Amino acid sequence: MNRKELEELIKSLVGFLKRYYEFLPDVCWMSEENQAKGMKSGRTRLRTAKRKLVEMGLIQVDPAPNGNRQNLKHIIRKTYPIILRASELEHQRYGIEEEEYYYIHDINWSLLQNYTAEDINGMDKLDKVRLYQECGFIVLPTHYPIFTDNSVKCSCSREFDCPNKGKHPIHKYKFIDGLNYDDVKEIYFEEFRQNPNLNIGFKVSGFSVLDVDNRHNGDKTLEQLAFEYDIDFNHVISVKCSNGQHIYVSNRNLKNTAGFIGEGLDVRSEGGFIVAPGSLHKSGKAYKWNEIGELATIPRDWFEKDSVEVATSKSGNQKAGLMLQDIKLPNRLTSDYVIKDGERHLTLFKWACRERGNGANAERLYDILITIRDSYCETGEEPITDDEIRFLADSVAKNFPTNSEKGGIPFKPENN
Ligand SMILES: [Zn+2]
Repeated sequence: MNRKELEELIKSLVGFLKRYYEFLPDVCWMSEENQAKGMKSGRTRLRTAKRKLVEMGLIQVDPAPNGNRQNLKHIIRKTYPIILRASELEHQRYGIEEEEYYYIHDINWSLLQNYTAEDINGMDKLDKVRLYQECGFIVLPTHYPIFTDNSVKCSCSREFDCPNKGKHPIHKYKFIDGLNYDDVKEIYFEEFRQNPNLNIGFKVSGFSVLDVDNRHNGDKTLEQLAFEYDIDFNHVISVKCSNGQHIYVSNRNLKNTAGFIGEGLDVRSEGGFIVAPGSLHKSGKAYKWNEIGELATIPRDWFEKDSVEVATSKSGNQKAGLMLQDIKLPNRLTSDYVIKDGERHLTLFKWACRERGNGANAERLYDILITIRDSYCETGEEPITDDEIRFLADSVAKNFPTNSEKGGIPFKPENN
């Protein structure tokens, strides 16, 4: 069950079942008796509701470690928060792909491909906005450049001082996703109708964009990579921009990082933002569809080359595209074990999961991770701070049950 299905299921609850579900905390240690008191109901009714929720997959009930045959204790866990938190945790912190655990937004590319670049470039802005929305893009009203006699300012309140003129959305978009976009879609459309100058932005979700900046030799980097990996970038979905192009790729959840694939080549991915065709650049040039061909896919190798290591990414010092399953933990720590820069966060995360599985609490996890960091991690350009370790230990302890609790462990450490 993915996040979307879960949300639908939760919405479908009614009556006592709904009340009981809402009454339950994310993780419930309460005895059945106390639950019945809290719900002001009989235990039979409660038990029926509990069984029903288990059948629906909305909660799971496991024996607590301190219970026994005579005095069974149970932990009730809501499925939803585990899935949600696991995805938030990995997504925000590690930017890794784990499709099973969170909602994946899908774009209807074939609808877009019904049109040629010229077709869409020739449309009115409102028709573009509507088409993009119909294709499933999360379309955001975006600030635009205003041209004065000899300068250019942004339509936002920072005007001439805006560092990002015409390139940032008007509204906060962090919490907008494919699930709740419908709530604001018509409001945004109306904003476009009322202000025809607005630039069009996409929240990147369900795809990624390669931002090729020719001023920094992005075209040459792309050419080299295309040759090396035998990819034809001539007939892909791409947008012509002032200083280069945007190439839309099918990869999801690449790291939003600048310049790590190569010179002049950036990536916008899940949660990121990109200015869409139909917008105006501060140079006065328009963003236009270059070609609407096939969706390109970037080979994983790109991100596994030594040269692509993210050296200074603030959010994680982590190799882009690196996945949890790529990290192998040794059975025991030996003096020749080294955790490379670029793999440190993910490896520490995996250690935390293994130790959590073995029963470590947040304090113990913290101690273990500090030891591993100090003894086995390359220092890298940016050391991993105690605070980061604290965050990691707390998150894993909070979100992942131990093996003996037999809960749904989203990430089982491998037995290698
Ligand atoms: Zn601005």
